Amino acid sequence: GAAFLSVRDLKVHFSTEDGVVRAVDGLSFELERGRTLGIVGESGSGKSVTNLAILGLHDRGRTALDGEVLLDGKELLTATERELERLRGNKMSMIFQDALASLSPYHTVGAQIGETYRKHTGASRREARARAVEMLRRVGIPQPDVRVDDYPHQFSGGMRQRAMIAMALVCDPELLIADEPTTALDVTVQAQIMDLLRDLQQEFGTAIIFITHDLGVISRIADDVLVMYGGRCVEKGGRAEVLRAPLHPYTLGLLGSMPSLDGPVDVPLSPIPGTPPSLLTPPQGCRFHPRCAFAEKVGGGLCGSNRPLLEPSEGHSERHAAACHLTPEQRREYFADYAAAR
Ligand code: SF4
Ligand code: MG
Repeated sequence: GAAFLSVRDLKVHFSTEDGVVRAVDGLSFELERGRTLGIVGESGSGKSVTNLAILGLHDRGRTALDGEVLLDGKELLTATERELERLRGNKMSMIFQDALASLSPYHTVGAQIGETYRKHTGASRREARARAVEMLRRVGIPQPDVRVDDYPHQFSGGMRQRAMIAMALVCDPELLIADEPTTALDVTVQAQIMDLLRDLQQEFGTAIIFITHDLGVISRIADDVLVMYGGRCVEKGGRAEVLRAPLHPYTLGLLGSMPSLDGPVDVPLSPIPGTPPSLLTPPQGCRFHPRCAFAEKVGGGLCGSNRPLLEPSEGHSERHAAACHLTPEQRREYFADYAAAR
């Protein structure tokens, strides 16, 4: 049957004074219940925009959407604002990097969690308060029956992030979209939040989309990985196959700029030279070609003229796919140094 979440050829184009920005330009992926898809890419790659469009939180006046987004069989791109409003918080929910911006300073943490619950379930105030205490307990807030009456500023950064997760999960959503939720936190708290999300996922069977620019975070939390560049998917597959046997030069570059996955930092950090493409006037062919160290190896100017399709590669699983003109032989030869360093 159909996947729980199915995104087909999604396009998100913005009108600006300078022209049309092709922020997302033909993206497809699927996600099953109880699994985590990590979407990774530099800022401006389209990863946040994709998820705002799924949630219906894009700027409607200036945005053209195309393609198909099916959540449990329901088409979201053509849903009314009213339908989306009902789905958000209930069936799908989100957490962002900045908990302070998501929580109101004027109301207690408990009142805000409770209000979300009341809005979607029609529960009484009393029931909502009990539910808020229960959720704060679940996300590991000490003395939840006392802290429920605190204001957000009385919480530490890590506790606010937990409170936001509690608010996002209060109605048992089936899809949770987490956009850089741990980026502002120190490493220890980051790890705790990721463990928490994993635990909650096991408990509730939530499908999670985890957006990040950090492959270290991906390696910790994702079952499947989708790498975005210039508004398109350049590689996708299972976590281990993408991180250990990447097929795309951009993924290779991202991996080269992070410490080794297991063991000491033995690979020199080498950020990919150059800057992300303009999405007003994206490069022809492969959008990565102006930055790609392998473009001239392909020959014939192919990389600068023909868009590479997302395809599986010989010797790799069917679901591990990349959009790149390199042949399997070329990859084996050119990526060998990388494999040796791992
Ligand atoms: Fe590099 Fe060409 Fe592959 Fe694009 S298609 S990633 S430019 S080798
Ligand atoms: Mg973003």
